[in-house]
Amino acid sequence: MELFGSAAAAAMDETRQWVADAKADGWELEPTYGDSEPIERAVKGRREGFVFMATMRPAIQDDPRPWMKGVKDSMTLNVWGPDGMALSIPRPYSFERLRIATRKCNYCEREDVDVKRVGFAGRVCAACDAEVRKRVEYPGWTN
Ligand SMILES: [Zn+2]
Repeated sequence: MELFGSAAAAAMDETRQWVADAKADGWELEPTYGDSEPIERAVKGRREGFVFMATMRPAIQDDPRPWMKGVKDSMTLNVWGPDGMALSIPRPYSFERLRIATRKCNYCEREDVDVKRVGFAGRVCAACDAEVRKRVEYPGWTN
């Protein structure tokens, strides 16, 4: 998920808590961009083949860099399973729910179903596959 502006500001604390809960639950965290951006703003986590990436970027007030003028708060949180496909994100954080999400269709949200990849990292069940694939993998979608 990706949010900007007031929606991002509202979700920022919840995402910080999600990351803190993951850390307490044994995830290894590192700054996504090494020394370039603090871990509080861009963080990557790993546990047992699961990966998440989060950005929590409050707009910097009075940033002297001209290209930063008007840049709004932004927040993203994405999680992938050991199979490399995106997971629907349990809130609040739960590793058990993430495990369950590896067999959950990200489109109809049915659980305990066989899933396969659609698009770049979509997770789709057999019932949704044809309709979703047509919509997501439109001609030239990898360009
Ligand atoms: Zn489905």
